[in-house]
Amino acid sequence: MKIGKIVIANRGEIALRILRACHALGIRTVAVHSSVDRNLKHVAMADESVCIGPPPSAQSYLSAPAIIAAAEVTDAEAIHPGYGFLAENADFAEQVEQSGFVFIGPRADTIRLMGDKVTAIAAMKEAGVPTVPGSDGPVGDDPERALATARGIGYPVIIKAAGGGGGRGMRVVHTEAALLNAIVTTRREAQAAFGNPQVYMEKFLEHPRHIEIQVLGDGQGNAIHLGERDCSMQRRHQKVVEEAPAPFITEDERARIGATCVEACKRMNYRGAGTFEFLYEDGRFYFIEMNTRIQVEHPVTELITGIDLVREQIRVASGEPLAIRQEDIVLRGHAIECRINAEDPETFMPSPGTVHRFHAPGGPGIRVDTHVYDGYRIPPNYDSMIGKLIAHGADRAEAIARMRVALAETVIDGVRTNIPLQQRIMTDEGFKAGGMNIHYLEKRLAEQRGGP
Ligand code: ADP
Repeated sequence: MKIGKIVIANRGEIALRILRACHALGIRTVAVHSSVDRNLKHVAMADESVCIGPPPSAQSYLSAPAIIAAAEVTDAEAIHPGYGFLAENADFAEQVEQSGFVFIGPRADTIRLMGDKVTAIAAMKEAGVPTVPGSDGPVGDDPERALATARGIGYPVIIKAAGGGGGRGMRVVHTEAALLNAIVTTRREAQAAFGNPQVYMEKFLEHPRHIEIQVLGDGQGNAIHLGERDCSMQRRHQKVVEEAPAPFITEDERARIGATCVEACKRMNYRGAGTFEFLYEDGRFYFIEMNTRIQVEHPVTELITGIDLVREQIRVASGEPLAIRQEDIVLRGHAIECRINAEDPETFMPSPGTVHRFHAPGGPGIRVDTHVYDGYRIPPNYDSMIGKLIAHGADRAEAIARMRVALAETVIDGVRTNIPLQQRIMTDEGFKAGGMNIHYLEKRLAEQRGGP
């Protein structure tokens, strides 16, 4: 079906990113926004805009009826959910399709399967994807069985919420004495945060890297992978810097894990863009979860493959078969993304407020994805990420050098940002060497504070 108009059910930089892809395809756009977000850049650029509610997300960006109503009154054909908010809400995807609109993402049953990490891991295991040694299903109420499971896995273990996301709902357990309490606490938190008390157990890997595979499927039997990204620079289980390709991953390793993911996509007849997340330790990949949406870090893959992932999402959602074959995917050079957050670079406290002056960096290989402009007021109601700088170079050293210059060139006056932290990372010897594990950044931050 030809899509002529799309509702962008998101805000900030990703809403602008989606709008750009739509307009490049000649598709008209509808921006939906909360009352505090009238000043968003993409709202001004969209063909139409609809205010869908007050600032709290629960009453605006998470309100399925308000978003579907906006699609109805504007005669749109499709809804793009972006990331976060309703992007991985299977009920929303179902309601969108039942209301007669195209949901730009996987089928609701795929989202449901992957949204519950316990069922996702089981499905992946069955498809031959390597997973982390663990409880093989939810941890039940029997304390003896939980203790036996942990003993079988070997300490340390990590208790994780089946419905968890955003780096929340996880607890590492080092000793048997702490296990049962940790299960009870994580279960309680999971119920409160995700409305699902189910938890499961995994071996806690002590020095893994986070490596993920980008895939595209058309729901018509075709699927490809676009190589990997390394997202090991994390703080509190949240990504700070991402890059592609992952340092020291060989072509052979990439081809093998990529083919495994493609095979899994074909089994579920996956439709849309998706990401298989793995931990990588001692030369082995361990699946941890799949994200059934576009990701924050998608630009690094776009820069090294030359493929517009959002355009492909829209094309596939229109019912077109994948036009790109696996052999068309050629990785060129290296790309690095720095997330720019409005937060104190030392305490990490959010720093909302008005951006009095904004200067974007430029030059060869620099891409800036941000909705910020001179005089933009950052509301306190949402995530503190206000944009992303992405640098592409012929090799990793050139990408880092370009990023260093870009960070120095960026001016964001009026609010505090994490740019000083990103500058320290770009000059850090360990980061420059590449291949650091997921604990590296926090360890360096603790050292700089004079901590342990
Ligand atoms: P979320 O959905 O909240 O992002 P993930 O399952 O993707 O949760 O895990 C997020 C991060 O938590 C990983 O990138 C890694 O840093 C850490 N983590 C998760 N599982 C394990 C594990 N078994 N061992 C060590 N670290 C883990």
